[in-house]
Amino acid sequence: MAELKNTFSWSFSAAEDFSECRRRRYWAKYAMWGGWREDAAELQKTAYRLAKMENRFSILGNAVERAVMWALREKQAGRDAGVDDAYEAEARPYLNRCWSESKGELWRQSPKKFCCLKEHYYREFDSASENEAVGMIKSRAKTCVSHFIESVLPRISGIPREREVAVARIEGGDPESFLFEGVKVYAIPDHVYLDGEIMHIHDWKAGREKDSHYDQVALYALWANVRHGRAPESIRTHVEYLGAGRTATVEVTAERIERVKKTVRESVAEMTEYLVAGDRARNEPLPAEDWELTAEGGACRKCNFLELCRPELGSDG
Ligand code: SF4
Repeated sequence: MAELKNTFSWSFSAAEDFSECRRRRYWAKYAMWGGWREDAAELQKTAYRLAKMENRFSILGNAVERAVMWALREKQAGRDAGVDDAYEAEARPYLNRCWSESKGELWRQSPKKFCCLKEHYYREFDSASENEAVGMIKSRAKTCVSHFIESVLPRISGIPREREVAVARIEGGDPESFLFEGVKVYAIPDHVYLDGEIMHIHDWKAGREKDSHYDQVALYALWANVRHGRAPESIRTHVEYLGAGRTATVEVTAERIERVKKTVRESVAEMTEYLVAGDRARNEPLPAEDWELTAEGGACRKCNFLELCRPELGSDG
């Protein structure tokens, strides 16, 4: 098999990481590369393992995504599913599997195949807080699925599957991307379909509302524009806040598309400064010490890569 190449790429989450902490981007994109190989150096293996790590909020989002898509497919097949049906069919088995793999440290065999939760890895739970987290995930997942069934499903279940637009997922290999000015840009919207002449793009959110979600769906609009040749006025983006039961439909305009292009360009240019000779085709990073550690202690406490930074952070870590 041909050797995989670590290609320069951009994504919304990569830009958020880079902007919050340069070093985090270094660990997640460069230090981890090849860390899946038996003969990799310890640092590579650790960075790869930490890059794959989940947390209670990320698995909540994944569980909700599975359950709502299951409920949608059931409805499209003519069956009405309730909240408990969707939770039991998809969310619960997924959450139980993650939890037991993580507690049993199965990720030691394969960080790619088995789930590792940050809270277990860094021993952040005691038995009371672990029980509380389990209860929180279950209750929030059910609330999200309930809001989906009540308010989103009636709007989208009538769209025939042949009008849905395929979006490549992480589980299937290389996720959805497009080329923007020669740079590979990842954009993975949750659900996309055509209704008449309009392309609708939905993103499910199980957590709280953030301004950055509007920029994220603007990137999806750029994906629709570049990848599918859609004019801005024929794209609608919807951020579905399933926890609150609120939909934010964001208007797509030519100006909005230009703004997101500018954001991508500026962020790509900044990231390029951290490459040897500023050469994106070569994509060789400057040494680790040139990727600054964030000055924000709060960011470190939430970060998967704390283990790798501790020697440099000293008592602050
Ligand atoms: S632990 Fe802190 S300094 Fe290290 S990568 Fe994470 S956020 Fe950056």
